[in-house]
Amino acid sequence: MRNIQLLEEIGFELDPETKRVLEILEKEPEVNEKFLAQALGTKINTVRKALYKLMHSGFVSYKKKRDKDKQWWYLYYWTLNPRRIKDVWVQHKKRELKKRETELKTEQGNEFECERGCKKFDYNEALESEFKCPYCDSGMVEVDTSEEVETLKKEIEEIEEELKQKAKDAEDTEKTEPENS
Ligand SMILES: [Zn+2]
Repeated sequence: MRNIQLLEEIGFELDPETKRVLEILEKEPEVNEKFLAQALGTKINTVRKALYKLMHSGFVSYKKKRDKDKQWWYLYYWTLNPRRIKDVWVQHKKRELKKRETELKTEQGNEFECERGCKKFDYNEALESEFKCPYCDSGMVEVDTSEEVETLKKEIEEIEEELKQKAKDAEDTEKTEPENS
């Protein structure tokens, strides 16, 4: 379930089949398509569609093995790549963090706002346009952005905490399970 949550947090689109495929792969280290299709009560093609989508982002990978019963036949065994999922999640969170930090800087500098709400401006921008909104020509009013600043600071703290926690989790799993964690 952990991986599904991470994928949801990065905005990866998960249809019900993909979710169920992931649930099985979280429990079984190597599963073939036939088994997955049977377990989900669906067609191999449906399972493949879900797997290919996940593979495209590197979240799963496969190994080709000869079928024991039909030697001329290959079976594809799929494995979840939790490390890749975690890495993509971390990258996503870091981008979010940077975005918030930029917003924070902007909000901290904002002192004026267009009366009609087009945009906020820092002192120099306001002075340059002679305290008239460059978009709609309305006047400007002073603004207090302390609430926005506080919200952004809190969000930044939360993301930093999540990243710290994830790094700690990774250390712990690496200590207990050197592989396939
Ligand atoms: Zn305006």
